[in-house]
Amino acid sequence: MSLKIFNTLSGKKEDFVPLNGNTVFMYVCGITVYDDCHLGHARAYTSFDLIYRYLSYLNYDVNYVRNVTDVDDKIIGRVHEIYPGKHGSDKMKELCSDISEKYYNSFQNDMAALNLSEPDKEPRATKHIGEMIKIIKELIDKGYAYVKEGDVFFSINKFSDYGKLSKRNSEQMMVGARVAQNTKKEDPFDFALWKSASSDEPSWKSPWGEGRPGWHIECSAMSLKHLGVTLDIHGGGQDLIFPHHENEIAQSEAYTGKPFTRYWIHNGFITINREKMSKSLKNFKTLKELFEKFPPRAIKFYLLSTHYRSPLDFSDHLISAAFEGLKRIENALMEVNKNISNMENEKYKGLEDIELMDRFKNAMDDDFNSAKTIGIIFETVTELLSLVSSYESNKEKIIALKNTVLKMLGILGVIYMINMVRKVCLDEKNILLDEDITKTMQKRDLENIDIEILLNKRLVYKRNKDFKNADLIRDFLSKKNIVIRDTLSNETEWSLKK
Ligand SMILES: [Zn+2]
Repeated sequence: MSLKIFNTLSGKKEDFVPLNGNTVFMYVCGITVYDDCHLGHARAYTSFDLIYRYLSYLNYDVNYVRNVTDVDDKIIGRVHEIYPGKHGSDKMKELCSDISEKYYNSFQNDMAALNLSEPDKEPRATKHIGEMIKIIKELIDKGYAYVKEGDVFFSINKFSDYGKLSKRNSEQMMVGARVAQNTKKEDPFDFALWKSASSDEPSWKSPWGEGRPGWHIECSAMSLKHLGVTLDIHGGGQDLIFPHHENEIAQSEAYTGKPFTRYWIHNGFITINREKMSKSLKNFKTLKELFEKFPPRAIKFYLLSTHYRSPLDFSDHLISAAFEGLKRIENALMEVNKNISNMENEKYKGLEDIELMDRFKNAMDDDFNSAKTIGIIFETVTELLSLVSSYESNKEKIIALKNTVLKMLGILGVIYMINMVRKVCLDEKNILLDEDITKTMQKRDLENIDIEILLNKRLVYKRNKDFKNADLIRDFLSKKNIVIRDTLSNETEWSLKK
């Protein structure tokens, strides 16, 4: 079986064939930086991280771009909330940039806590105003857009394919969308490419006067610049299908005359009592609130336990249940590991269970079904626990299954804590810079590899008689419930606190 992806554009699962051989161009709509992230953001970015990781595992060369919207009504609103009064355009630009920076950092910390890979590029809207103006100018020249008193609108009636993604006719659009009363528009669904700005809003010079771009044009400009005319994958939450993605298609295809995106992927909502979780309904949980109650790895595992397109119901109880499940896997692997000597681990390093890996691949090839793969992992750890009582006669099978489970967890991006490395000895080749250590020590959940890195560095500090820094690492690990013990042969043993 080869990878199949559900494409919102066709409404069915399709074989995945990138346009340019092995290279995949993937664009995901990023956040508008005006507040802390909530669980809905975590779901979207975890879903696309899963897709990114699996495509990379399949040896695709993925170019992953996720934008940052750093100019928007919501950011301006936030600035006015914090700094009431009039500031003028230049000062507003500065204040908006401060707010954006603050929440971009907050977003990055949350994503790192969830062990999400960083995209290859994170372009910012305010750094692409020139590119946007160029596209808008040409859309006007081609007759797709019109100017009204400093604003520029896209005329949806000029683009005959309008509605092909969301499959809405104009009546359904009326029902589905909030139509702002804007008498400047020729059709209520025409959307703004450029908005004239008041003297108290951040603004840029344009052929139509001072103003700022509309939200939709940002993604068309940034994806074109960083990935090219036709994207293989464009993703976001289901709430972006209409109008945001529909509008992106209209602008981009009208501008280039070429197909914009080949596979549209949308993740499902998070619901609370079957109602959508969203900021406007004020029923959302920020990740920072949730991290106070649960380790990030529990939240990550909960998110991956449901297929990315299905609605995901939220409650503390459901996250606790997912965490219990993850701990069951971790404990089983630790139990199995007790029997395996370091020498055997080394000897059978690359040993895998081919049949198990095939089952994993079949599940993931079916539109990235992480829920199914987690089911397979549960079955396998149960099998492992039953085999381990007769370790000697099943040694190779046990090690192969264990190695494969760890590989699967790695591809899913699940953070797990198991007592894999019992001894760490000084490894001169793999000593990291202090800056990298600082980064590792900022993580909220540690993986085995992080523990190894820190213990290795601690051995270096000890050798150099820098006991202050060596103790800093020991205390940090202790706070993470990891006990360490130095052996007489200058190695360090570690284990999880009971
Ligand atoms: Zn977008």
